[in-house]
Amino acid sequence: MNRSENSKLLHARASRVIPGGVNSPVRAFKSVGGEPLYLVRGKGSRVWDADGNEYIDYVGSWGPLILGHAFPTVVRAVEEINRDGASFGACTPIEAELAEAVIDAFPSIEKIRFVSSGTEATMSAIRLARAYTNRKYIIKFEGCYHGHADSLLVKAGSGVATLGIPGSAGVLEEQAQFTLALPFNHQQAVEEAFATFDGQIACVIVEPVVGNMGCVPPRKGYLEFLRSITSKDGAVLIFDEVMTGFRVAFGGVQELHKITPDLTTLGKIIGGGLPVGAYGGRAEIMDMVAPLGPVYQAGTLSGNPLAMAAGLATVRELKNRPDIYQQLERRTSALVGEVLVAAKRKGVPLTANRVGSMFTWFFQPDKVHDWDTAAKSDTKAFAKFHSAMLERGVYLPPSQYEAMFMSAAHTDGDLQETIEMASQALGS
Ligand SMILES: *Cc1c(COP(=O)(O)O)cnc(C)c1O
Repeated sequence: MNRSENSKLLHARASRVIPGGVNSPVRAFKSVGGEPLYLVRGKGSRVWDADGNEYIDYVGSWGPLILGHAFPTVVRAVEEINRDGASFGACTPIEAELAEAVIDAFPSIEKIRFVSSGTEATMSAIRLARAYTNRKYIIKFEGCYHGHADSLLVKAGSGVATLGIPGSAGVLEEQAQFTLALPFNHQQAVEEAFATFDGQIACVIVEPVVGNMGCVPPRKGYLEFLRSITSKDGAVLIFDEVMTGFRVAFGGVQELHKITPDLTTLGKIIGGGLPVGAYGGRAEIMDMVAPLGPVYQAGTLSGNPLAMAAGLATVRELKNRPDIYQQLERRTSALVGEVLVAAKRKGVPLTANRVGSMFTWFFQPDKVHDWDTAAKSDTKAFAKFHSAMLERGVYLPPSQYEAMFMSAAHTDGDLQETIEMASQALGS
């Protein structure tokens, strides 16, 4: 049994002054039981908690840390730029440098605007899509998460286009009524929505490989279908690649599937662990953003030098070492496959989805391809597995419906250890 006194004390203290003791809900371990760990250090594939326990980390700050914790060139870049002042709220040279580096990886992006979170990126992209098309409705998919802007916090409506109902207290029906939530991977639902709301749909926003209901890849032809129906209709196609950008491939899902969305939202990896988001796309659309155009969007800390430096160091490393993606593919494939074999041996029903270094083990026998199938998972079995792994020194995201991430810092030794621990945990 790991020691946990210090984490418990820290959590009691935080809980008195921060709602639930956390600044983002899933950190609270609510869906897996137990209390959150307080992490105090990370290096490479490993993290350490306040009680001195060491873990192999498959959260990676929820995706940004593709190079692992405290990667030397990222640390150095932030330290160096910080010495000259952390923020000016004025133009600095590094903003265009990161913009060029991102555009180099994403040919669909001609111009890009940096913000401070993925939430801001998607919220702004939708405002822009509505302005560009002069239309009201947006289509999103059940189980896709695009941050917590009001119009995007809409629960699953099933089947055909149902009018949105709020997915959070405090979101007015009026704010959600133009959001159509459709099942992911179902072409017909999208066709019906476009027929019903003919000429009124501003955009389709999609996680082209979903990470936020666990990892769920698109069916063959699905993304091509979304591209073609939006093009025909004149709606804007937004790929939310906040999680997948620079993760599943250097150029994200759009590189893997050779699809050109109109707008792309990014975050996570492009901040290298610091708070960054971005939205970009065709110049013709992006030039509608203020000060060139009438769409207002701003941020005191947007393009912050420290955040840009961490992102640039990360993207440069990925660019200089394209072998990283092959190595991630090989290692993650081996890990996911070996754990499935172990589950079979122990008689535990388990299925897995994986794209590159993004993956989820779903505790159920059937394939997962949308929210309804994901929701059939045995979350109690996941919770048990999660805590058995934690006790054995493996840190997994504390929810069945979050993707896990491998980093370039994970070694074959880490994998062997993880497979051994998973095998024990599945047997317990
Ligand atoms: C994480 C995430 C967001 C939100 O980003 P934040 O920086 O947490 O606001 C949006 N979309 C996707 C696909 C994400 O994974």
